[in-house]
Amino acid sequence: MSDDAEAAFGAVADELRVRILRELWEADDPLSFSALRDRVDVADSGRFNYHLSKLRGRFVEQTADGYDLRLAGNRLVGALYSGVFTEEASVEPTPVEGTCTNCGGALEASYEDERGRVTCTDCDVALLSGGVPPAFVEDREDDLATALDGYFRTMLREVRAGFCTQCSGPVDGRLEHDPEHGPRAVFECGRCGGTFHGTAAAVALDHAAVVAFYYEHGLDVRTVPVWEVDWLHGATRAGDAARVTVDVDGDELDLVVDESLSVSVAERP
Ligand SMILES: [Zn+2]
Ligand SMILES: [Zn+2]
Repeated sequence: MSDDAEAAFGAVADELRVRILRELWEADDPLSFSALRDRVDVADSGRFNYHLSKLRGRFVEQTADGYDLRLAGNRLVGALYSGVFTEEASVEPTPVEGTCTNCGGALEASYEDERGRVTCTDCDVALLSGGVPPAFVEDREDDLATALDGYFRTMLREVRAGFCTQCSGPVDGRLEHDPEHGPRAVFECGRCGGTFHGTAAAVALDHAAVVAFYYEHGLDVRTVPVWEVDWLHGATRAGDAARVTVDVDGDELDLVVDESLSVSVAERP
């Protein structure tokens, strides 16, 4: 990050400025100088104007209709509401329907240290695990597992479409052959350098052939929780590519995931 980033964070390192941003967020329409000052509730007009001027340009714009948030202002207030900077949350482990695809043991979902998890109580394997902001937990304690399922599928779709989930920069995906865990899908952002890891088979989860294959068996793969999809963990190396066998009710569909994570239906010998 550059000096510009320091200047930007400096501009919002003040409680009154954060209040201005929040009031503009809560207003449905742009606000005039006096309407905004009333809402922020600062008697000293000079002081208010000084702090507003520090936000103008990057975070707040002044239009003919009044003051409004720019994208940077919206992003900042959204991040504040997500609770990543200020809150801590946790959800005690709760039972999840279904069984571990690794050992048949019972499953539970939990949230702690900003990580959501679906884990097996017997073999301790994490069938789903990743960082999620505290706001994610609100009103979802009772169905944490389903919420986590939807969250991670959405993140996967985002990086598959080439967008970084952290900064919206361009993402490249590649296949890596991990000696211990086998083929892995790795997505890396060209802008922030952030990475997102998944199993090689996970990139096939919404492939048309897979969706159709499940549909032929009377199932909608989009609503099957990822921890019940046992073939997600079963990719094997085939040269530089990976081989994935989708298994539904004993029927099999063979797929190939190539080095750049393109998925195709394998030729039958
Ligand atoms: Zn297990
Ligand atoms: Zn990024």
